[in-house]
Amino acid sequence: MNGIGGSGDPFLDRLDRETVRAARERAGRAVVVGGAMAGLAAAHALSGLGWDVTLHERQRYEEKRVNCGEAMTDASSIPLPKTPEYGFANRPPEFEVRVYTGDTAGRTLAGRGVFPSRDGYVTDRNVVERRWAERVADAGVDVRDGAGVTKAAFRAFSEEYDLVVDATGQPSLTSKAERRTGEYAGRMTALNADVEGDFSELYPRAHILFENYLGYSWAFPKSETRANVGIGWAEGTLPKNYYEAFVAACERNGWPVPDRSATNVYTIPRGPSLDHSRTWDPRRRVARVGDAAGIANRFTGKGISQAVESSYLLARLVAEERIGDYPGELYRRMRDEYRLAYVVRGALEDGRPDILGGVMDAVSGIDVEDVDREPRYAVSRLLRRPVLLAKLAANRTMRSRLVDAYTDDWEYRRVAGSS
Ligand SMILES: Cc1cc2nc3c(=O)[nH]c(=O)nc-3n(C[C@H](O)[C@H](O)[C@H](O)COP(=O)(O)OP(=O)(O)OC[C@H]3O[C@@H](n4cnc5c(N)ncnc54)[C@H](O)[C@@H]3O)c2cc1C
Repeated sequence: MNGIGGSGDPFLDRLDRETVRAARERAGRAVVVGGAMAGLAAAHALSGLGWDVTLHERQRYEEKRVNCGEAMTDASSIPLPKTPEYGFANRPPEFEVRVYTGDTAGRTLAGRGVFPSRDGYVTDRNVVERRWAERVADAGVDVRDGAGVTKAAFRAFSEEYDLVVDATGQPSLTSKAERRTGEYAGRMTALNADVEGDFSELYPRAHILFENYLGYSWAFPKSETRANVGIGWAEGTLPKNYYEAFVAACERNGWPVPDRSATNVYTIPRGPSLDHSRTWDPRRRVARVGDAAGIANRFTGKGISQAVESSYLLARLVAEERIGDYPGELYRRMRDEYRLAYVVRGALEDGRPDILGGVMDAVSGIDVEDVDREPRYAVSRLLRRPVLLAKLAANRTMRSRLVDAYTDDWEYRRVAGSS
C-alpha cells in the first residue's frame, strides 16, 4: 500500500502522503462521544489528520471495569505495544470452537473448528482502553473522562463542532436523543467474569462452546492461572436464574465458578445495523461508529475489529472529502459478513447442532479474524461440502434466512420507525 507508510501508525498507513497533507490543511473541530474502542479509534485517526478533537467518556478510565470484548482479533489496528503492560495478556495461537448437541451430561460433540490466529490477543480491555486514552491525550486530544454527555448537550454539539462522532455503543446516544430506541430489535444478555484457577490445559488457546441453546459460552485464558469466562443467551431464551445457569456452565465445562459479586451482566441490543439513514446524519453531521452503528457480528458477537474499522473508515472518508459516502462504504464493507452471520445464526435459532457443527468443520483452519470478516473464505469452504449444502437447502429456516440476507431484509427493516 502506498501509505505514509513506515509511520507505524495503523490508520495513517492506509492513506497516501498527499491526502494526509491536504486533510491537515482543512482540519476542523470534532467531538467524539464514547471513549471505548470505537471512540478511541475515531479520536486517534482524526487527530492524526490534524483535527482538534475532544473526547467525552462517561466512565473514568482508572475505574472502568470492562470484561467484555476482551478477545481482539485484529490487534495490529491498535497503535499500542502488544505487551501485558498495555493490556495484551495472551496471544493465543488458535481459537477453538466446539459445537455440542446439548448442555447435559449426555451431550455429544457435533462439530469442531480450530481457527489459527495471526494477530489476536486476549486482553485486559480496561488496560488497553486506559493506555490508548493516554496515547491520544499525548497526541493532543482533549480527553474528558468521567464526563457523560446528556441528550441536550449532544444535540447542541451539532452547532459547536464540524463533526460529531457517536461512539456510545448500544443503544446509542443518537437513538436516545431522537427517542428511537425502539429501532433495536431484540437483545442478548451475557454474564462474564475474570476468574483465577488452573487453566494450564486450556492456555494459551481461546475456547468458545455452542451447546444447543441460542447463545454460547467461552473461556479466554489470560495466563495459565487466569481467564475470562462467560455465557450469553438471546432474548426469549433466557434462563430463569442467570447466575445459576452461568455456574452450571462453568461446572460442566470444568472452569472455576466466579463469585456472584465478580460477575458482570451486559445486554447487547441488536440493530439498527447497516441502515444508511442512521449511520450518517448529514444535517446534524453526526456519524455513528462501532456498536452505536450496530455492526457487531450477529453470529460470533465479535465487535472490536468492526468498531475500529468503522472509525478508521469514517476518518479516511473525512480525509478524502467524501464523508457522505460513509453509509454506503460501511454497508459495502459489512454486507457479506452480515449475510453470512445472519444465515449461520439460523442453525442456532433452529436448534440444529448438526448443521452448525458441519459448518464449523467446514470452515476450520481459516484465520479467526477472516472467518467472519472475510466471508468469501468461509463460503468457498462451504461450497466444497455438498452434503452440508443439501442439509442447508432442505432446512426452511436457513432458506428463508438466505433470501432475507440477499434481499437485505435485516431485522432493522422490521422494527418501528425503520426506513
Ligand atoms: C459479554 C460480551 C462479550 C464480548 N466479547 C467480545 C470479544 O471477545 N471480542 C470482540 O471483538 N467483541 C466482543 N464483544 C463485542 C464488543 O464488546 C463490542 O462490539 C465493542 O465493545 C463495541 O465497542 P464500542 O466502542 O463501539 O462500544 P462500547 O464498548 O459499548 O463503548 C461505548 C462507550 O461509550 C461510553 N458512553 C456511553 N454513553 C455515553 C455518554 N452519554 N457520554 C459519554 N460516554 C458514553 C461508555 O461508557 C463506553 O465506554 C462482546 C460483547 C459483550 C457484551
